Amino acid sequence: MTISQDLFERAQASIPGGVNSPVRAFNGVGGTPLFITKAEGAFTFDADGNRYIDYVGSWGPMIMGHNHPAIKQAVHEAVENGLSYGAPTEAEILMAEKVKELVPSIEKVRMVSSGTEATMSAIRLARGFTGRDKILKFEGCYHGHADSLLVKAGSGALTMGVPNSPGIPEDFAKHTLTVSFNNLDEVKAIFAKYADEIACIIVEPVAGNMNCIPPVPGFLEGLRDVCNEYKSVLIFDEVMTGFRVALGGAQAYYNIKPDLTCLGKVIGGGMPVGAFGGKTEIMDYIAPVGPVYQAGTLSGNPIAMAAGLKSLELLSEPGLHDKLEAISKALCEGFEVGAKKAGIALTTNYAGGMYGFFFTDAEKVTTYKQATECDLERFKRFFHLMLEEGVYLAPSAFEAGFVCAAHTEQEVQETIAAAERSFAKL
Ligand code: PLP
Repeated sequence: MTISQDLFERAQASIPGGVNSPVRAFNGVGGTPLFITKAEGAFTFDADGNRYIDYVGSWGPMIMGHNHPAIKQAVHEAVENGLSYGAPTEAEILMAEKVKELVPSIEKVRMVSSGTEATMSAIRLARGFTGRDKILKFEGCYHGHADSLLVKAGSGALTMGVPNSPGIPEDFAKHTLTVSFNNLDEVKAIFAKYADEIACIIVEPVAGNMNCIPPVPGFLEGLRDVCNEYKSVLIFDEVMTGFRVALGGAQAYYNIKPDLTCLGKVIGGGMPVGAFGGKTEIMDYIAPVGPVYQAGTLSGNPIAMAAGLKSLELLSEPGLHDKLEAISKALCEGFEVGAKKAGIALTTNYAGGMYGFFFTDAEKVTTYKQATECDLERFKRFFHLMLEEGVYLAPSAFEAGFVCAAHTEQEVQETIAAAERSFAKL
């Protein structure tokens, strides 16, 4: 028995499923999750002393690499002054100013403590601002686990949502409309049906929770137009893409201006942070200036602000995002070449510092349906072969991969070589 196996058995006796967030349990790939003891740069180390080239990066935040000395130093300095005050600090202003500078569609921003809080609050704000109840989301997009957002499409086209978890009343879910990602016709049809009842569209501008699926040309532009026409609020959920796809997020990469933006992951540099922001006219609708209530005991926490600010400062180095995209591209091309040599059908997608690969005959994957039709068994075997090779990929075929500034040419080439050997064994 490995130490990780032993720890997993022990964990299950006192933590549901042995984990504090479901995907960590390896249900998507089988086997025992690795228990991590430390992480440094491009690597994580497990309790059995194995070292892995890491493409999970704590599910996105560790874009500068693990345990970055400058971020660690910023945290140490902040800790000296106390852990939390529950009162305003200058660090919160600096953070707000930095976010506005990097993401110009954001005129005002409110800090929260997770991505879920950011999307949940943005939706409430959009509903309060428009006085409408319905929201539109896309099948396969994940926006955290708030009740309105854990909803899947009803059967048949243009139906109302149904809860995808017990505990969510149907009366809540019915206000969430769900259509296909990258399908503008469905968006237009549902707006034609519900016209001025829809408060907002919420979308991952690059879908990262059904593997990695970038928007097809015209899709995001079309959402912008529809929202303008029906006076709905366009919310980009950039919890994953923010500061990763480009310094200014996916909205900079694709040059589309949403009304509200949700942020998380990278903005906290590894600490629990989220944020939502956008047009002043909408943001001033929240308390204490406006009527929509939103609050948080630890919102804008000084240690989290210190880690996040330093992370954003480091990320602002010119050329860094070009480097991240070059790493994603090299991995995708390397995987495609390796798979081809082994006669394995594979296609890839990437946008900036996120990427995905699909075991499928399809030339390109642009829809949720295509993502679900890929060879999941092959993915599971490949995941474990790569783990044996010392490469830690996301333990699910429906998660994007994340590269970081600490992945050097050497790690990338080692990963591609490991993939080539693994494809040959599939
Ligand atoms: N939105 C997106 C696009 C996400 O990928 C996630 C988490 O993975 C969330 C929201 C929820 O963020 P958190 O897990 O910090 O609550």
